[in-house]
Amino acid sequence: MDQLLVALDVDTVPQALALADQLRGAAGGLKIGSRLFTAEGPGFVRQLVDRGDRIFLDLKFHDIPNTVAGAVRAAVRLGVWMVNVHASGGRDMMRAAREAAADEAARLGVTPPLVIAVTVLTSLTDAALAEVGVPRTAAGQVEALARLAREAGLDGVVASPLEIALVRRQCGDGFALVTPGIRGPAAPGAAKDDQSRTLSAADAIRTGANYIVVGRPIIAAPDPRAAADALVRECGA
Ligand code: C5P
Repeated sequence: MDQLLVALDVDTVPQALALADQLRGAAGGLKIGSRLFTAEGPGFVRQLVDRGDRIFLDLKFHDIPNTVAGAVRAAVRLGVWMVNVHASGGRDMMRAAREAAADEAARLGVTPPLVIAVTVLTSLTDAALAEVGVPRTAAGQVEALARLAREAGLDGVVASPLEIALVRRQCGDGFALVTPGIRGPAAPGAAKDDQSRTLSAADAIRTGANYIVVGRPIIAAPDPRAAADALVRECGA
């Protein structure tokens, strides 16, 4: 299913390759985050890209504009399909990311990756946000940051399933909504783990998510391919 992005949250290349092989044809893309990237580095990203896998490089860049621009350029050179930054890095940083992606892709003669922004981590509750000095609710903060990301020219945002409808209303149809925090029917008995704002895959897609990001309900299942197939069936795809 094109919309299913599976998080390869494992520590080693052999584990990640085994999952990639098992999930070929079921997942529309593979997400490499800070855990695997820190353990195994960019060579592995390139290896998967060269095999034809669609890679979402989920390193959530959050730094000054010049540094983020350089990191995004490096991601373009790796050939990834999607890359992300934290919206709370601000308008100028997001613009720099967008421009760097377009510029580096033009220089290489390739299609630029989608550049999207993380709004509020799906593990955070209103109380956790208050603790770090954000007085708004999670939904209010997602809405404000999604608007800022759109104004800065980004291609979409990462938001929890509970904010999809809100962001869709606010940002329109051309804006990609990427949604982690997937829990529910296809993975009966699966714990919420550290996720707080969750929904089932089918409900997330029904509500308007363009892509769902699923980690543990698939990769920690006894049979990851069977779990992915069940989730795809649940979504009617
Ligand atoms: O295992 P689980 O399905 O909770 O994995 C969700 C994945 O999505 C993890 O790789 C996590 O880093 C990522 N993610 C998230 N919340 C965000 C952005 C990314 O959970 N806001």
